[in-house]
Amino acid sequence: MKPLVVAIVGAGPSGIYAAEALTAQSEIPVQVAVIDKLPVPFGLVRYGVAPDHPSIRSIRNTLERTLERDDVSFFGNVAIGRDITVEELRSVTDAVIYAYGAASDRRLDVEGEDLAGSIAAPDLVAWYCGNPDVHPETSGGDDHRYGHNPIEELITRARQAVVVGAGNVALDVLRVLIKEADELDETDMADEVLSVLAQKSITDVHLLARRGPAYTAFTTKELREIAKIENVDLLLDPADFDLDQAGKARITKDKVAARNVAAMQDWLDRPITGAPRRIHLHFWTRPVRILGSDRVEAVEVERTRLNDTGRVVAAGPLEPITAQLVVRSVGYRGIALDGIPYDQDLGRVPHADGHVIREDGFSPDEYVTGWIKRGPTGVIGTNKSDAVETVHSLLNDVSDEALMARHDIAELTSLLADRGIRPLDLPAWQRIDAAEMARGQGHGRDRTTIVHHSELLAAATDPD
Ligand code: NAP
Repeated sequence: MKPLVVAIVGAGPSGIYAAEALTAQSEIPVQVAVIDKLPVPFGLVRYGVAPDHPSIRSIRNTLERTLERDDVSFFGNVAIGRDITVEELRSVTDAVIYAYGAASDRRLDVEGEDLAGSIAAPDLVAWYCGNPDVHPETSGGDDHRYGHNPIEELITRARQAVVVGAGNVALDVLRVLIKEADELDETDMADEVLSVLAQKSITDVHLLARRGPAYTAFTTKELREIAKIENVDLLLDPADFDLDQAGKARITKDKVAARNVAAMQDWLDRPITGAPRRIHLHFWTRPVRILGSDRVEAVEVERTRLNDTGRVVAAGPLEPITAQLVVRSVGYRGIALDGIPYDQDLGRVPHADGHVIREDGFSPDEYVTGWIKRGPTGVIGTNKSDAVETVHSLLNDVSDEALMARHDIAELTSLLADRGIRPLDLPAWQRIDAAEMARGQGHGRDRTTIVHHSELLAAATDPD
């Protein structure tokens, strides 16, 4: 039986879990091409999961086993829109699964949001994880081999930082900003990232949560971690833990909320030691304006409360928090790609059970999974069940003969070759992997991330 050729756009966890679900069944033979615009696979596992969470990052090893299968091929450094259009991809494959995640960030929509010093968490995360897209190649001058990301200057100048949002990404960012650089030495962060972090002198990080302690989006394990950071005082307002009826009802219904509140209540008893650095947790607080003439100098915040319909509304006087750096950590947002249907309001690709919907109904050959399907929620593992649902829809369409094997994967390979595009395959990734491990050895760590595009390509090159 001729295998069904399926292209997956995005080699992050959602894309690779889709490849796993496609190849885990034996009824319908498949040949899968996992395409990524970056030279390396693993998406947010490499460029989103915090470097000081090595066990979550090691999910990469499981994902790699799927890429190693004979019926799966990795096409790295191939960008949809730049190297091949969606229409072209659809014309040489039997089905396409979009798994390109949520590449942008949600906005706060407050005055001053675009001042120098106000940045989006996804950009900061991409920088410290070493994403080549935010590590410029050249400065244009002779003094540096590589250019600089403006984030580097912001981090070294700031004394006080505000992180807006009460989710796990806010906690990741908070740890990186408040930890001493030598506490991050064992991670796989690039030397140039570590050297910038070593120059920072941030003493205070203020985390703003627009609702109360019973309504955070933290997971408890990640929340508890911040109490383990050394030489840091944790400052909270005991009044915030005097929960109202709605807050009490929430912790009765939601076990994670109850555990989070209990963990933070324990911190109220921690003595303030006069430590050199401080984490301030501000509940019922939201930013109304970011202040500064040409760069961030402070954030004006207001107290909040929930109204009768559960909406966050203003509840008190305005007050400034001095800060030179503001990190907006209020969620990721999916982007529109040329030729792919997109719901502007939701920032997602419209679908039913993973089957893409176009204006005139179900698309015959397009599917979607991961954050671009359901929005930026859940942990890495959530993408597995999500991919299973999407692949189930696809396989059902094959069983119903709505989708048929007509193409050969060689059509994709030759289309790219004809225009001079040489995708990076799995052996190329394995050479990058070996180069990163070799770099790490000299520093007593497992690996050191290579951050520049040209260096990744050089490391990927087969010496023969
Ligand atoms: P998130 O979990 O959706 O949290 C976003 C936070 O921003 C919420 O506290 C939200 O408050 C707040 N927010 C949204 N709009 C706001 C506004 N206009 N003003 C003030 N606050 C606002 O998003 P995330 O932290 O980016 O995480 C994305 C996903 O990745 C989550 O599922 C997360 O669990 C996951 N993740 C997991 C890990 C891990 O397991 N270690 C690490 C990182 C990320 P409201 O609740 O009031 O809307």
